[in-house]
Formats: sequence, C-alpha cells, structure tokens
Amino acid sequence: MTRRCLAFAVWLVLLSTILPEGNARRRNWYESGELVENTDAKVLILGAGAAGLSAAKTLYDAGFKHITIIEATDRIGGRVKNTELAGYPVELGAMWVYGKGSNPVYRMTRRYGISTIYDNTDWTVRDVEGRNVTARADNLYDKVDSIIKEISQFSKTYEQDYSLAGGLRYFDYRTNTDIGVAVEGTILDFETGVPSKAHSAKYLNMIEGFEDFGNNELLICNDRRGFVSMLEIMSEEVLASADTQLNLDTVVTDIKYDSDSVRVDTSDGRVFDGDYAITTFSLGVLQKDKISFRPSLPFAKRFAIDTFGFVSFSHIFLKFDYGFWDDTTYVILATTIRGRNSFFLNMNVVYPGSNILLLSLLDVSAEWVERVGEGEVIGNIMETLRKFYPDQYVDYPVDYVFSRWNFDPFYLGAWSYWPPNFTLEDMEQLIAPVGHLYFAGEYAHELHYGFVHGAYLSGVRAAEDLMTDWLENHKSEKECYEQIVNGTLIVTATIMEMC
Ligand SMILES: Cc1cc2nc3c(=O)[nH]c(=O)nc-3n(C[C@H](O)[C@H](O)[C@H](O)COP(=O)(O)OP(=O)(O)OC[C@H]3O[C@@H](n4cnc5c(N)ncnc54)[C@H](O)[C@@H]3O)c2cc1C
Repeated sequence: MTRRCLAFAVWLVLLSTILPEGNARRRNWYESGELVENTDAKVLILGAGAAGLSAAKTLYDAGFKHITIIEATDRIGGRVKNTELAGYPVELGAMWVYGKGSNPVYRMTRRYGISTIYDNTDWTVRDVEGRNVTARADNLYDKVDSIIKEISQFSKTYEQDYSLAGGLRYFDYRTNTDIGVAVEGTILDFETGVPSKAHSAKYLNMIEGFEDFGNNELLICNDRRGFVSMLEIMSEEVLASADTQLNLDTVVTDIKYDSDSVRVDTSDGRVFDGDYAITTFSLGVLQKDKISFRPSLPFAKRFAIDTFGFVSFSHIFLKFDYGFWDDTTYVILATTIRGRNSFFLNMNVVYPGSNILLLSLLDVSAEWVERVGEGEVIGNIMETLRKFYPDQYVDYPVDYVFSRWNFDPFYLGAWSYWPPNFTLEDMEQLIAPVGHLYFAGEYAHELHYGFVHGAYLSGVRAAEDLMTDWLENHKSEKECYEQIVNGTLIVTATIMEMC
C-alpha cells in the first residue's frame, strides 16, 4: 500500500463511541489475566495470516491450548509475504507500518527487532513531457488535503453518505489536468485502493484511522528476513506447543456451525471438529463463495459481506542494472490512465544500491497486469518510463517480480475499503459471530480495516469474544474461587456475577 500521509484525523473518536458496550467489559476480564487455567476447549483457526496468528496467540496466552490451525498454502503469513529479487528481499504484500505509538504492529517490530526505515514521503512528480512539476503538485496536494479536511468535517454533520469524489466536487475540486489526477490519485486512490468515486466520504478511516495510535509516522520494513518474520516470531511458542496442530496445504471447503460446536471439511476429505472456530479468510474469498456455510449465513451478514468493498492491487518490482530515476522516496508519473504506471517507490531508499523500482497498480490496472502476459506489461511500463524520462537511456529491467493476489483463489484481492452507504450497522453484521463461529480478518475491524494491524486487532478481538462466550458457559465454583483468590481488585462485576 502506499503513502503520502495526510495530516488530519479524527473519525476515531466518533467511531469508538459506537463500539458495542460489551467490549469494555470483555477487556476487563481478559486484562485481569490468567483467568482460564488450561481449558480443554478445542478451537479451530481457519487461515494463518496476521488475524489467525494473533487470535491463536491471544487464546494460547489465556490458557486455550488446544488450537488447530488450518491453512490452504504451504506457509504462514497470508498477505504478508516476501520473495527475493537479485539478492534483495521484496515484499509482495504488506511492507508499510502505519503509525507508531500504540500500533500493535509497530510494537511487534520493536519487540522482535524487525528492521524498518522512516518513510519521509518526499516525492518527485513528472508530467508526460518528462518535466519535473513537483512544485505545482505540492500546491495541488495542499489543496486536496485541506478539502479532505472540509469533507471530513462536513460529513459529520450530514446524515447521508456520499462518495469521496462527490465530496471533492461539492467543495469545488475538479481535476482537469493529468497532474491533478496524479495528485488526487496519489493522496486518495493509492491509500484507499480504489478511485474516489467508489469510496465513502463519511468513513475515511483508511486514511485517517492510524492517527489514533498517537503517532502517524510511516515506516517501511527493510528486514532481510521479510516482514513476515514479525508474525513468525510472535507465533513461535504457540506453534511449538505439543497441543497446537498446524495443518498447512489444507483447504477448507465447508463449515458447519451451531451454538455448541463447529465442524470443518477440507478438500483432502478430512474433517476437523472444534468447540469453536475463527475464520480469517479474506473478504474476497467470502464474497466469491469459496466456502460453503451450513446453515447459510444470516441475510444481514451475507449482505454486509457482499457490499463491503475489496480492492484489486498489485506490486511489480523491477530490477535495473542502473538507476535512472529521481532520488526521492516516491516518483509519481502523471500518466493518463488512473492507477497505471504512475506510482513508484524508489527501492534505493529501502535497500541502497539495489536499483529496484516498486510499481503499485490498482483497480482494473491491477487486474489487467495479472490477465495479460508479463512481457506485455513490462513493455507497457517501459514505454511509460521512456516517455517520462526522455533524456535518459532507459534499458529493460534485468529481472522483475509480480505479486499476483487478485486471482489467487485464497485471496482474490488485496484489502477492503468502505463503499458509500455502507453503514456502521452493516459493519457490526460483518464482524458478528454466528453460533460458535467467529469472524476475523483485516475487513473485520471498524477502524483499521485494510491493514495488518487491523487484521491483528480483529484476531485478538475474535479470540476475546470467544473466550467470553466460553466463560459465560463454564461457570464453575472452582474457576470463580480461583478468580477471587487471584483476582484482587481487578476482578470485575462480570466475573463476580458468574459466581
Ligand atoms: C499488495 C498488498 C500490499 C499491502 N500493503 C500493506 C501495507 O503496506 N501495510 C499494511 O498494514 N497492510 C497492507 N496490506 C494489507 C495487509 O496485507 C492485510 O490487511 C493483512 O495481511 C491481512 O491479514 P489477514 O490475516 O486478515 O488475511 P490473510 O493474510 O489473507 O490470511 C488469511 C489466510 O487464509 C488462508 N486461506 C484462504 N482460503 C483458505 C481456505 N479455503 N482454506 C484454508 N485457508 C485459507 C490464506 O492462504 C491466508 O493465509 C497489503 C496487502 C496487499 C495485498
């Protein structure tokens, strides 16, 4: 995903007030610690990305040791995945940490010694004649930035939702020039993942949300082990436990749930039984009916799944023999096709001397690069680069890597976004459990959807909700006694009630 971080915020305050009241209560008992002494409840975790792994860790740390993880691919990490290009690790999925402070992903990078660099977000913008038009683009940037603040304020007082593009036009911002389109695209499209006409003006959390961590600086992972090493280290103890089963290369096809248990069928004919399960499949997987639920999901939940947005997005890393581009962190080419061949990260900033460019593409262009042959795509990129750098000799890359998330049956896209008129009630439906089946994943967080930290937080929440349910159904004198002895003053009214 991409950056030019907009320095404003505040949806958070509004949104945090709509969180279910139960949340605060649940946190209390969980934070009181060691509530559950090794329960034998069996929990199935479906998918081993950030959400699945954070759910597993939360359960494990709280005493739920019987954890079975079922993952379709041959690795853990999901959309956090790296490969190698000319000796450099390149991230096919997530690589930016959005916000420091209390961001759990930032905290993990510090705790586990994951190497990152500060993203100063400086850019060079070039027009189709190859002229450096950064000064003009900076002015436009300030204009769009301040209009977005106005939209943000206005939408708080206006009940009905509308599209971000509608908001821009309402405040009289019109993009008639290629540079205008490039600036608007850079600030908005490459953050949300969709053209502004597809995005809600009311719920701009994707752009604003990470401010609530108390620090909105951006970091780029440049750890040679890959960003995924953060998740690997976090899960080490859980995965090493004799009570944990990690089933890789195991594809879930059917989930049967009720209010006592969950049964999962996999494509190799195996059946897994659990007292509970947490699904963490991407929204794309759920939207395309890759999993069959029995009974069918309730209408309101199905509607929420089908109407929340899921982005197509691609990374293409291009390795050149030499660097011919500008030395700022970002290079923006004001191309005429929005979202195509315009947004480059200069990887020399991440790995000095690597001479790698990262091109990000979105929406139909991201799908296009996965549909046509690689040669055609590279030829198209070369045409653009030569046009925008007419004074340089721009030779073909010596190697390249495509990310390919958009048609992979285990992802079917990149991350989710908030479309116009999707309501907070719809979001509650998206997250709500059905029977003993819980839902987590980057889409299942009302503030931080779309990000690794959102996935992480949704996994923690699903695990906490599940444990609350388990506790409410397993009131025993022994547990209550232990709580009162160990619980000190933190023991909440909820726990007392259980006794
Ligand atoms: C190109 C790209 C760039 C991104 N950049 C950033 C960034 O810079 N910063 C950021 O914070 N976020 C970024 N994101 C988003 C971030 O990667 C995701 O939000 C997050 O990793 C999602 O985690 P998750 O656990 O919800 O889902 P996933 O990581 O998708 O995990 C779900 C798991 O379920 C498995 N699965 C699917 N179907 C089945 C099945 N039938 N049976 C069993 N297992 C199955 C999948 O293999 C996968 O491992 C980016 C995403 C992409 C694609």
